[in-house]
Amino acid sequence: MTTSYKKAKNLDEAWKIQTFPKGKPNAWIQWKGTEVCMDVYCICGEQFHIDADFAYSVKCLKCGRSYACNGHIELIELEEEPENVVTDIDQASEILIDEF
Ligand SMILES: [Zn+2]
Repeated sequence: MTTSYKKAKNLDEAWKIQTFPKGKPNAWIQWKGTEVCMDVYCICGEQFHIDADFAYSVKCLKCGRSYACNGHIELIELEEEPENVVTDIDQASEILIDEF
């Protein structure tokens, strides 16, 4: 039986078939043990909330399915820069050094 979404045997296989949005703005998240809050929408219709460290995979307790969490996220370009925008501090200091 085929599904309209991706299925993999394990995390290694899931890593190989993850969507990598080449040619489009994107970012990849490495959890690094930091806590994440995640709203999960399972294919069975269940919705649940995760507050956890190292959330490389999640499991739905209603249907028993587990999912690998693809760390690639869509980036949407903003015409108006928000006040709390985050930058690469290391890159910014290199740019300042290059100016002198
Ligand atoms: Zn489920």
